[in-house]
Amino acid sequence: MATVRSFDLVVIGGGSGGIACANRAANYGARVALVADGPLGGTCVNAGCVPKKIFWNAASLSSGQALAASHGHTGTPLQFHWEILKSRRDAYIQRLNGRYAEGLARNGVTLFRGHGRLEGAQRVTVDKDRVLAAPHILLATGGIPLWPEIPGASHGTVSDGFFALEQQPRRVAVVGAGYIAVELAGVLHSLGSDTTLVMRRNHFLDGFETMLREHLMDAMVRQGINLLAGRHVLQLERREDGLCLHFSDGEYLGGLDTVLWAIGRTPRTGDLGLESAGVEADSSGFVAVDRFQNTSAEGIHAVGDITRAPALTPVAIAAGRRLADRLFGGQEERHLDAQPVPTVIFSHPPIATVGMTESEAQERYGPDSVRSYSTCFTPLLRVLDADPERTAMKLVTAGPDEKVVGLHAIGDGVEEILQGFTVAIRMGATKKDFDDTLAIHPTSAEELVTLR
Ligand code: FAD
Ligand code: NDP
Repeated sequence: MATVRSFDLVVIGGGSGGIACANRAANYGARVALVADGPLGGTCVNAGCVPKKIFWNAASLSSGQALAASHGHTGTPLQFHWEILKSRRDAYIQRLNGRYAEGLARNGVTLFRGHGRLEGAQRVTVDKDRVLAAPHILLATGGIPLWPEIPGASHGTVSDGFFALEQQPRRVAVVGAGYIAVELAGVLHSLGSDTTLVMRRNHFLDGFETMLREHLMDAMVRQGINLLAGRHVLQLERREDGLCLHFSDGEYLGGLDTVLWAIGRTPRTGDLGLESAGVEADSSGFVAVDRFQNTSAEGIHAVGDITRAPALTPVAIAAGRRLADRLFGGQEERHLDAQPVPTVIFSHPPIATVGMTESEAQERYGPDSVRSYSTCFTPLLRVLDADPERTAMKLVTAGPDEKVVGLHAIGDGVEEILQGFTVAIRMGATKKDFDDTLAIHPTSAEELVTLR
């Protein structure tokens, strides 16, 4: 029988939430074990935010060449080589994996490589041959991409496979309508792939402020991305001339070398032994937690993408750190409070959004209490273009004091602008606070404090 090793906290999952909690708990002096079956850093570092942002930067630099030309730069344009970017990106991610391992070791967290599984309330087995025990266990196993249940789906790939591609797809279809579909379709097109985005509704980014998605759809069409709306995929077929997507209306799209499914993600809870410990999950596998990240089982907690919280790295990290503060830092009431969640879609141009859409605000406060302010302008960076990409912004306010409850923007640089405005919104800023703030000129951000 394997000997049982005892800790104060066992974390299953070495991604954003798990590592954040483990390090913070160890900093308080807790004896912490972390069980990881994949590369350290999890989805964000290895197959999410980081490689995606590197691709997005590469894509932005490609489109930047046209801007440079409009500003008097001439000469042969630089050629993009997927293989070079991929190998440099992979090397950087490997360095990051190493830094995470060093960080854990420095903080005194014991790392167990292997698959963790609950065995009753206070035990975790690692690959069935090692046994760990602790009064507190954190589940932070994240999610995996969904595959459609249609014939031939396996001829396509998902975001994990996209990041592993050794060569640039020549002709690609991205199926989906959320963050990943929009981001990766934009990256692929900007880097030179012939790109089609296939969605089942007539719009993407359902639930986002309408102005944002309309502006982005318009921009994508103008850039030359083929948007196929209202299409339900029935089958993916491999033919001599490449992959072929068949739609329910009898139409098809053939000659593709890559099809990328971007239809959502599902929590990795299937093989975690939840039942053995009495941890409740909903029918989709998401673990139910209260505001203190407690599951239905005493001493078992969960953070990140396996819960119903927004699937964003800072949310997983904040929940993990606050949990450690509460369990080991003597901060009994510490938890991730309900607050506006800022988020950026790294599209071309990027979208930045926090708080309520105008219609959500109207539903919450009543239509007469909501006032919105919008602008659409050509940023100085684009004024020399023949057909300039415009920037659009919208503030949503509620109540007699016009508290800002939503901020939505699309255009160059908005991904960096949002963070500071989120501080103001979280602190309860009103439209008057925005108006009374001195502008920085000439910038795009100043439009948000000069809205009429
Ligand atoms: P993960 O980071 O997924 O980590 C879970 C870890 O647990 C994994 O390493 C997994 O191998 C391990 N694991 C699972 N089961 C077990 C087990 N039984 N035993 C041992 N180990 C196990 N968010 C942003 O904020 N900004 C972005 O720009 C952004 N871009 C994204 C782009 C893509 C393509 C994707 C897919 C996601 C993106 N996200 C982004 C979302 C973000 O990556 C996730 O919200 C975040 O990684 C969730 O962290 P987590 O700790 O819950 O899980
Ligand atoms: P999302 O949940 O964002 O979007 C998935 C979309 O796929 C849905 O909106 C749905 O659109 C569409 N869809 C679902 N099923 C099908 C189907 N059978 N056929 C066609 N379309 C379908 O998931 P993603 O995978 O894009 O991303 C997962 C999460 O990861 C995001 O929600 C986000 O939290 C996080 N993420 C964050 C990023 C960031 O911060 N920049 C970047 C990438 C991911 P509809 O219902 O409209 O048809």
